[in-house]
Amino acid sequence: MPPEKFQWSHLYDEVVTSGLCTGCSGCIVACPHDVLGYNDENGVYRPFHLEDELGPADCTHGQKGCTMCTRACPRFRAWEPELDEHNFGRVRQPDEAYGIVKDIVLARATDKVIHDIGQDGGLVSALLIYALEHDVIDAALVSYLEGDGTGWQPVPGVARTRQDVLDSAGSRYTYSANALAYKDAVEGGAERIALVGMSCMASVPAALKTRRAGKPARRFTLSIGLLCSKTFDDAIFEDLLQLKYGLQRSDIKRSTSRAYSRFGPTMAATSKCHSKSAMHSRGRAAIHAPTSLLNMPTSQPAGSVRIAIGR
Ligand SMILES: Cc1cc2nc3c(=O)[nH]c(=O)nc-3n(C[C@H](O)[C@H](O)[C@H](O)COP(=O)(O)OP(=O)(O)OC[C@H]3O[C@@H](n4cnc5c(N)ncnc54)[C@H](O)[C@@H]3O)c2cc1C
Ligand code: SF4
Ligand code: SF4
Repeated sequence: MPPEKFQWSHLYDEVVTSGLCTGCSGCIVACPHDVLGYNDENGVYRPFHLEDELGPADCTHGQKGCTMCTRACPRFRAWEPELDEHNFGRVRQPDEAYGIVKDIVLARATDKVIHDIGQDGGLVSALLIYALEHDVIDAALVSYLEGDGTGWQPVPGVARTRQDVLDSAGSRYTYSANALAYKDAVEGGAERIALVGMSCMASVPAALKTRRAGKPARRFTLSIGLLCSKTFDDAIFEDLLQLKYGLQRSDIKRSTSRAYSRFGPTMAATSKCHSKSAMHSRGRAAIHAPTSLLNMPTSQPAGSVRIAIGR
């Protein structure tokens, strides 16, 4: 009997509608027929099928054998052991709550401009600028602010220069599906792409590589994950900040989240998070990068280096 092929109908039942979906948009990026859309209205953040033919829960291409969306999904079936095995040749042990790490360092940008503009010392921006200026990547998928920035609405976008990276620095505590900017990056000629995203999204490149999901798997070169103990949707401004504290959006210059620093990794892993699965809240921030970029021993295969960053 031929092996079962997992397609959109499986993803829809087991992830999209089961509460496991994080809204990372990996399935949309990987879909070769462009039949998936993204609903980010009212804090939903879920993929949906654009074709009417078989209804929302099935796909004509999937019925003919396409499996790309399930291969890209970091929440489909036993994703964590699969990815660990692929990256490190073994699964993590119970005492490796951070995942399998080479080292854990406390770091910040030494460039004062980057340091001052970054959320917590600018390490993420410094890494991106280094990678762009040293021919490691052609572009990075990051998060900008919509319009003049006073609305605090994040918009996925592409950074190709130091100035772009600086313009996108800082954290927005609502969900930003940065992977959705992949198409723009490729249309602009990028072949080596970095992805910045919360931990759930930062697993997408590893899922794509582990399950050999075509060109996107080859193009993602650097993956930087931000620890996320929880995200908010836009309603926080009206429902909490305005009503309870009388704060207008335009009065807020910067926001931060300190759950992890105060309570440690166990609390971070059990806090309410964007998906109902707390599994992705492991480690504060993780980087997957070519060994050359991080000056690590070359015995480790490219794409397998992972570093946890502390504040
Ligand atoms: C929703 C959310 C919740 C977080 N919760 C915690 C927490 O509880 N405890 C903790 O210690 N740290 C938390 N962080 C991580 C922290 O805010 C910083 O992102 C991290 O410490 C890196 O700081 P930096 O100065 O190096 O980043 P910067 O150099 O400022 O770079 C930040 C990068 O993140 C991108 N970005 C900004 N907002 C988003 C977003 N919403 N989605 C995807 N990418 C984005 C930017 O475009 C930029 O590339 C959270 C981050 C987010 C986005
Ligand atoms: S089965 Fe293929 S065509 Fe259908 S949604 Fe998934 S990736 Fe797209
Ligand atoms: S790839 Fe991401 S957005 Fe798509 S179903 Fe899986 S978790 Fe949800």
